[in-house]
Amino acid sequence: MKFCPHCRADMVPAFIEGEERNACADLECGFVHYDNPVPVVAAIVERAGQVVLAHNVQWPEGIFSVITGFLERGEDPAEGVLREVEEELGLIGFDPALIGVYPFARMNQVIIAYHVKAAGEIKLNHELDAIKLVDLDKLQGWDFGTGLAVRDFVAKRNQP
Ligand SMILES: [Zn+2]
Repeated sequence: MKFCPHCRADMVPAFIEGEERNACADLECGFVHYDNPVPVVAAIVERAGQVVLAHNVQWPEGIFSVITGFLERGEDPAEGVLREVEEELGLIGFDPALIGVYPFARMNQVIIAYHVKAAGEIKLNHELDAIKLVDLDKLQGWDFGTGLAVRDFVAKRNQP
């Protein structure tokens, strides 16, 4: 951010509340760009004994992940995750169960991950171009981002 969105003055580095931040050079304006992490909802979608992983059109080939999306203003995360499942997969989800909350510093996000059950025919929206259906007992997580939620989901399922 080069210019202040409030008064158009230059933004300059400033040490504020223990952190180096970007702040408006006009002290009377006082705008600080905190750049706080953005919450993202993620859905591990279970359908007919399988988990639905999807490939985003912008990702390299062969990469599949769970369904994710940004919350709308004022939206309950548990409702937002069902909305994303419907928008992206065309499935009506139900029983969203919180898996956990995961930092994703590289993307400046905080991931709020749910297990969502769903039924019906999958109809991908424009953001997705392929899916991979993984049997529940073959599902494996990975060590960053939403993969940590998948790991916890798998570990919880395998508890006696
Ligand atoms: Zn300003």
